[in-house]
Amino acid sequence: MTSSAPQRIAGKATILGVGMTIVRTLPTARRRTIGAWCFLDHIGPVDLGTSHGMRVGPHPHIGLQTVTWLIEGEILHRDSLGSLQLIRPGQLNLMTAGRGISHSEESPPEHPPGMHGVQFWIATPDADRHGEPAFAHHPELPVFDHDGLQVTVLLGEQQGRKSPGRIFSPLLGLELLADAAVQTGLPLRADFEYGIQVLEGSLTVGEEVLEPGTLLYMEPGSELLALQADAGFRAILIGGEPLQEQVLMWWNFVARTQSELTTACKDWNAGAQYFGEVVGYPGDRLESPMPPW
Ligand code: MN
Repeated sequence: MTSSAPQRIAGKATILGVGMTIVRTLPTARRRTIGAWCFLDHIGPVDLGTSHGMRVGPHPHIGLQTVTWLIEGEILHRDSLGSLQLIRPGQLNLMTAGRGISHSEESPPEHPPGMHGVQFWIATPDADRHGEPAFAHHPELPVFDHDGLQVTVLLGEQQGRKSPGRIFSPLLGLELLADAAVQTGLPLRADFEYGIQVLEGSLTVGEEVLEPGTLLYMEPGSELLALQADAGFRAILIGGEPLQEQVLMWWNFVARTQSELTTACKDWNAGAQYFGEVVGYPGDRLESPMPPW
């Protein structure tokens, strides 16, 4: 099986909450999903200085998992299951929305000035998307060296190392970095499609030079990722079996039909109990915008 040339996807800058710049590379007009990955936000790097920092009030999710991974800074996570978790660099935070959850994200009162990280969403397959909500914090993940490349397995399995994070479809999430210049080939699964996004420095994949703000999409069929980089780069590699389901998204909801999305918006705004309640957030809950249909 041969695969065609990789596709460059330019991210779109947008503002999250109050004054937090992010670059979104999924979904875009050219590509909606990579495996079950359906949303990719690169947060910062920003200098919060002495401001309040991040303030994302209580809001709901259905039908997805959120993956929060920081390189720098701290976020305090609260959710309707009663979780109160300080999210720090190098720790995986995986929230499973199932049939309904709500959460808030804020900088703690005392926080480092810098903030840099990613937040990704994974669409839950139809068979599992109405399940129980959950939140998991994984401070320890498999890390290994591959030809000078430091590989951290955020989700899924790579070269026999498996993440403890619970997933519902075959997929992969890795952090890749190198302290010195590196040139290597990373084994891939030919049945997965992949995306790679640089967070720091630059990286050459095949003939493509990548920098922050661009996602490179690679269709199934490759068994090796040829990469080359100078010292000091950091990237995220995601992959998975191409999704066989038509996923629809609106605001913070992932579903299959417009009417499900409309119902979720109305239910949240009406205070429906299945989203639970976030306790202790110093501010208002977010209101759902109604869909255009
Ligand atoms: Mn959220």
